[in-house]
Amino acid sequence: MDKLTEQTAEKIKLREKRAQKPVIANVSNRHLHLCQEDMEKLFGKGYKLKKIKDLIQPGEFASKETVVIKGNKGEIKKVRVLGPIRKATQVEISRTDSFILGINAPLRISGDTKGSAPVTIIGPNGTVELKEGCIVARRHVHFSIQDADFFKVKDGENLMVRVDNERGLIFNNVCTRVRANMTLEFHIDTDEANAAGIKNGDKVIIL
Ligand SMILES: [Zn+2]
Repeated sequence: MDKLTEQTAEKIKLREKRAQKPVIANVSNRHLHLCQEDMEKLFGKGYKLKKIKDLIQPGEFASKETVVIKGNKGEIKKVRVLGPIRKATQVEISRTDSFILGINAPLRISGDTKGSAPVTIIGPNGTVELKEGCIVARRHVHFSIQDADFFKVKDGENLMVRVDNERGLIFNNVCTRVRANMTLEFHIDTDEANAAGIKNGDKVIIL
């Protein structure tokens, strides 16, 4: 075999291997993560978030608490707070939400909030005028070290993910997040899920 044939064969083999391990997809509705200071401003001094449901990623949970988020054009009620408490407050909305709110939120990897959009957060005990921290989260796949090894990916790469259903879609520019304590999972927002006809728990194929 010449070099090119060899490389092509490798690629086909890898694609076949990846197809043997469908990945669970979960849809992130608009939500926010809070730092301790903002959480206390919104809910009161010494307040503790009340867990209602564990999420797939270890340690992450949906809390009972919701807030109102507000921009120049409008507001959205009952936006869920996710725990645990983080170093910085981050509000994740869809592109559709950004039009409702009148917020020019940039597309970012979660955690990368520098220079992102301002947003007002209203809780039962007070209001936070967040200077930056409102983003549209980039679609991504979480991998443990072992999963990353299986799929032959590194942290911060871009992948393609195929959806095999009635609508059918291939997502490009899906970024990889590899951490020892992560669980294999594809995360998209509600706009992306609706475009692809995906609901929570559906399976997708990494190409
Ligand atoms: Zn995620």
